[in-house]
Amino acid sequence: MFCTQCGNAVEQQARFCSKCGKDLTPALVNQESKRDMSMHINILGWLLVGSAILTGIGGLAAMLVGRLIEARHIPLPPDVAFPVMHFAGGITTIIGFAVLAVSCGIAAAGIGLLQYRSWARVAAIVVSALMIFHFFPFGVAIAIYAFWVLFSQEGQQYYRARSADTMA
Ligand SMILES: [Zn+2]
Repeated sequence: MFCTQCGNAVEQQARFCSKCGKDLTPALVNQESKRDMSMHINILGWLLVGSAILTGIGGLAAMLVGRLIEARHIPLPPDVAFPVMHFAGGITTIIGFAVLAVSCGIAAAGIGLLQYRSWARVAAIVVSALMIFHFFPFGVAIAIYAFWVLFSQEGQQYYRARSADTMA
């Protein structure tokens, strides 16, 4: 890195400029916190992508089970009337489809975050809030982490700067 006062090239971890003696600690701290933020946003993005994959698998499984119930491949108690079974199968399929749609939303937020899209910060906050209910108790941990990263002043500033760079 370079001295912020005289432009002299200094070692990466130097605390003072060897030429003009300027205290470089604030620049160093700033650099470290930026690296941390970039790491946290990366982790969060991948956590969302991972959750989306798990959610998607759940949705597909529900759709499959729903179809099997509708087609009467899954034996239900004999006293359950066919229309009831058909209805239950249909509902399960619809729920599975809805879960699959949600998983696409989570994936989009995660991928957007990894690419520093300007909309992805808000999308990730909304999706993380939804995960509290939908992925209990695992989702609570993700949501707390997401809020901590994305609502912190550092996180917001860093994200805004990076996404502005990406757009340009
Ligand atoms: Zn200097």
